[in-house]
Amino acid sequence: MRTTADVVEGVRRYAAVVQEQRQRLIDLDAAIGDADHGENMARGLAACVEQLATEPPASPSAALKSVATTLMRKVGGASGPLYGTAFLRASTAVGDKDELEPADVAAALTAARDGIVARGKAEPGDKTMVDAWTPAVEAAGAALEAGGDTAQVLRAAADAALAGAEATVPLVARKGRASYLGERSAGHQDPGATSTALLLAVLAAVAEE
Ligand code: ADP
Ligand code: MG
Ligand code: MG
Repeated sequence: MRTTADVVEGVRRYAAVVQEQRQRLIDLDAAIGDADHGENMARGLAACVEQLATEPPASPSAALKSVATTLMRKVGGASGPLYGTAFLRASTAVGDKDELEPADVAAALTAARDGIVARGKAEPGDKTMVDAWTPAVEAAGAALEAGGDTAQVLRAAADAALAGAEATVPLVARKGRASYLGERSAGHQDPGATSTALLLAVLAAVAEE
């Protein structure tokens, strides 16, 4: 996750993983939402991959911005604007650098999470993607402080996001569609927290290569 090519590769791999896990994300959303999260994300990310190929970005920031605008344009529902805002804030956070350092990656993750919170007003514990993003940002910050390289920062984020996503199971949703179910939302893993954990796992894997 250092160069423009790394960012583009990360998005391509995420698109492939979401395509693979499309049904699982649909099933998770069927339990507490409207069964479209897998389809929303798969369609949006396919459009992102296409757009990155049509207009190759000249910098990591431009790549992140391209993804942001495509997701906002192509993905309806809650997740389009939320992930769109996340990528847009990440794009701004990395500035005009050609090569990202570990601190830039950690700053991008923090900016992404802050954008999601600004847009969706969810707090940790509300059973949303914020429950994956927030522990991820904290773990990334700790790994950076400990002198971690980009792969270590992203691995820490990915592991924490996965634990955070799994920890949404017993929670009662207080934001988004799942909140309409009240207590009945407990017992199911949040789809958006799950797709967040997948994103960070993919980015970590690309950085480790
Ligand atoms: P929709 O709910 O509109 O059908 P998706 O199914 O694509 O959209 O996305 C649902 C996911 O969006 C949820 O699992 C949750 O993680 C996330 N989400 C919904 N509302 C919020 C919010 N206000 N803040 C953060 N995340 C949210
Ligand atoms: Mg849905
Ligand atoms: Mg929907």
